[in-house]
Formats: sequence, C-alpha cells, structure tokens
Amino acid sequence: MNKNKFGFKIDNSYLNLPPVLYTVQTAVPVKDPEIILFNVDLALEMGLDVDQLLSSEGAHILSGNRTLPEVSSFAQAYSGHQFGYFNHLGDGRALMIGEHVKPDGSRVDIQLKGSGPTPYSRRGDGRAGLSPMLREFLISEAMAGLGVPTTRSLAVVSTGEYVYRELVQEGAILTRIASSHIRVGTFQYAATRGEDIVDALLQYTINRHDPACEGASDETKCFLYAVATRQAKLIAKWQSLGFVHGVMNTDNVSIAGETIDYGPCAFLDTYDPEAVFSAIDTSGRYRYKHQPLIGRWNLARFAETLLPFFKTDGTRIANAALEHFDKIYEAEWLLNMQHKLGLFDPQVDDLTLINDLLDLMAKEGLDFHDTFLKLTLDVYESESSWPSETFYAWHQRWTLRRSEEAADLEAQKKLMQSHNPAIIPRNHNVERVLNAWVLHGDAKPFKALLALLKEPYSYTQDQLANGAPQPDWPKTFRTTCGT
Ligand code: AMP
Ligand code: MG
Repeated sequence: MNKNKFGFKIDNSYLNLPPVLYTVQTAVPVKDPEIILFNVDLALEMGLDVDQLLSSEGAHILSGNRTLPEVSSFAQAYSGHQFGYFNHLGDGRALMIGEHVKPDGSRVDIQLKGSGPTPYSRRGDGRAGLSPMLREFLISEAMAGLGVPTTRSLAVVSTGEYVYRELVQEGAILTRIASSHIRVGTFQYAATRGEDIVDALLQYTINRHDPACEGASDETKCFLYAVATRQAKLIAKWQSLGFVHGVMNTDNVSIAGETIDYGPCAFLDTYDPEAVFSAIDTSGRYRYKHQPLIGRWNLARFAETLLPFFKTDGTRIANAALEHFDKIYEAEWLLNMQHKLGLFDPQVDDLTLINDLLDLMAKEGLDFHDTFLKLTLDVYESESSWPSETFYAWHQRWTLRRSEEAADLEAQKKLMQSHNPAIIPRNHNVERVLNAWVLHGDAKPFKALLALLKEPYSYTQDQLANGAPQPDWPKTFRTTCGT
C-alpha cells in the first residue's frame, strides 16, 4: 500500500466483503469540476498533499471524473427505516473512492457525495446542489469544532452543471470523510440477505471499529454495547448543544458513532423541546426532545439484526443493551449539563436544578445558547438584567450551589466556557452566508463564518459579536434535505 501523489494511502478492505454489500463502479463524469472550498487543516491531518489536490487533476479526482490509480471505487448497499418505514436504499448519489490510512494509522472512508447515479439511485438523479453541500460542509465542520463526533468535509467541487430541484441550482460534489459509512441500515440490509452476510459484516465491523471486543466471551454482545455507548454519548452531546439532526432514520445512524447526513439539521434558537426544523418531518418524529428515544429505537433495530449471533439468550442481551443505552445517555447528559453550569462535583439535586432551568427557559421562550452564554459571562448578574423573577430565584439557587464547589469561580467559568460555545451555526447566519454565495456569488461571508465556527470555545470578540440570536428570525423557519 503506497502513497499516491495526492498523499492518499488507499486500502479498500470493504471490497473483501461479500459483493452483495456493494457495487463497484466509477462516477459519472461532470462537465467542468472546480474546487471551490477546501479544508486545508483536515487535508494536512490526513497526510494529504494540498498542492496536488488543489491542482486541476485534484479537481478531477474530487469530482470522480478520474479514479485514483489502481483503485476501484464503489457504492455501498444499505437499507433503513425512514420515518419508521423500512426501505432498501444504498448510496444513491455517493461513491466511495477509497479507504485512506492516515499517518496515525487510523482508517477513514473518502466518499464523494453527488457523484452521479448508481444502481441504488431509485428515481433520483444521483446529484447534489451547491447549497446543501456547502451547508453540510459548514455544519459538519462546526460540529467538529464543538467536539461532537462527526463525519468531516474535505472539499466542495462545483460541477459546471445544473441540478433540478424546487429551484434550478448549480451542481456540487462534497468529499466526505468518515471513520466508516457502515450504518445501522447496512446491518439491516445484510439481514435481508442472509445470516452469512450479517456474519461477515459483523466480523469486519468489529475488527474495524471495536477490535477490543475481539476475543471477548461474547464478541457480538461486546460490540452491541460499544455501539450503544457511542450512540448514547453522541445524542447526549447533541442535546446539550441544542442540535436537532432532523432525519434520524436508521440509514443515517453510523456504527462508528459519528453524526452523519447533514440534510435538514439545525440548532435551537429559542429553547423549545418540541422544536422541528425539517419541512418533511410533518409528524415531528425527530423533534428535539425525541432524539434520545429515537436513538434507542434505532438501536433496537440494530440489535435485532444481531440476534442470531449472541452466545446466550439474545433477546435478554438486546434488552439489557437498550437499558445500558438509557443509563449512559442519562449519565452523559447530566454530566454535560453540569459542566455547562460550571459544576465539577456532582450532587443529587443537580438534575432538579438543571431541569428547573430548562423548564423556565421553555416557559419564558429564552434562547438556548444565549442563556448559557450569559450565565458563563455573568451578564445577568453584572447588569442586573434578569429575564424574570423566577429566573432570578433560580439564579440565586445556582449561585448557592456553586459556592459548594471545591473549585473556585474562575475554574468553574473555564469549565462553562469549554461547554457553552460563543458561537454556533445559527439558522439566520447559515441562511445568510449560503444565500450570499449561491445567489450572489459572494463566498466571503461563508468563509468568515466558517472560520469563527472552527474554534467555538475561544470566546473572541468576533465570535461574541456574531453569535447572538436574531430576535425577529421567524419561529416557522424550516429546513429542507435539498436532495
Ligand atoms: P438521505 O435523505 O440523504 O439520507 O438519503 C436517503 C436515500 O436517498 C439514500 O439512499 C440516498 O442515497 C438517496 N438519495 C438522496 N438524494 C438522492 C439523489 N439526488 N439521487 C439518488 N439518490 C438519492
Ligand atoms: Mg442518508
């Protein structure tokens, strides 16, 4: 396995799996590929050659017009429960150009999203529009900055072609980097193809993501618990940051525990547990407060595919794993929220203190991030600007609680600062910079916002100035998948 001139060290281990799990094919070429956005930091971390990739040859590689030398690209098969209904899916507009081995020895998938039709495209055109690909780049990189496990974005290439959606848009291809693209839906698909197929996928995935489970008395159980732990921690992070994924179908649940598929996602402005942003989520299945429940439901669908492989009573193991998910989720959520309030030493009443704050934020329609930011910066106290009497009373309780901490106020503030971002990708900012680029050809606002979102806990003046909510932003704001 040699490095090619782009710095890619490709080793397609997935192609050793049974061929029903993928289709080897090349991308459908695009007219005029141009790299319009490139993640230099990520490229360097991956050991890639930035100059080579930014050449016109690089644009041909990152658009799929040319395959990497001596490598087969492929589309993966998967299924999924979409809004509760089971469908056969697969990479309908994406292509794996290779698994890359990073300088630290870890392995990542390099996938082109928007690379043209595959056998899994169903009625879709296999393409992607510029706006949704820029959006995924921006929000996934913001999530990485926030410390949330996520797929990453290496590049956006414009294709020189148009895609036809509600509006005609420029076409684009995103290079997505992931620990893997193995989903709950990949296991569901394998389960429809036979036990031997699940078995092969299971062995492969354990080896790739949970080698610590190899040799355990029940490897499958160990693996299920590992996946449950990652999902529980991930969703606890989402909740503590007010992130609404929007389309938690089982095909969008990564076994590696990364946030994947940034279609209609959005961050809360006003704290509203019922918040739904996706225009297609009409029943509110994936509303903010449902995310942990849905995470558990998705995990149950995953556990079902593993039932034939447990060493002892599978149903009992699967149920215990779901309880494990609940326990880890609750503990992680509480810990994240304690840290948001500067509390190092847990106390039994902390849960009530936190829930009382959230309740009053919901009742009073307070902004989620702004409230935690103002608590971090002591704004309420120093300006005596209490949102309400109730809030003041809560603040008194919190102040008393803080005085019981061993750590001093400065250390508490540092802890809060590392859990309450100074800036998040607020909907009004995201829309503004996307419109500037896509409608008016001005990439500068996008790039400026991206730079602020990369290290959201720095608390620079620029971040604080740009992180505030927009008071007249409509509560009816809806996102679309853009597919
Ligand atoms: P998503 O909503 O992005 O998770 O996509 C759900 C499924 O629809 C996946 O199998 C995608 O590959 C497929 N899909 C989404 N958009 C397109 C498109 N434009 N052409 C073909 N397949 C698509
Ligand atoms: Mg998807």
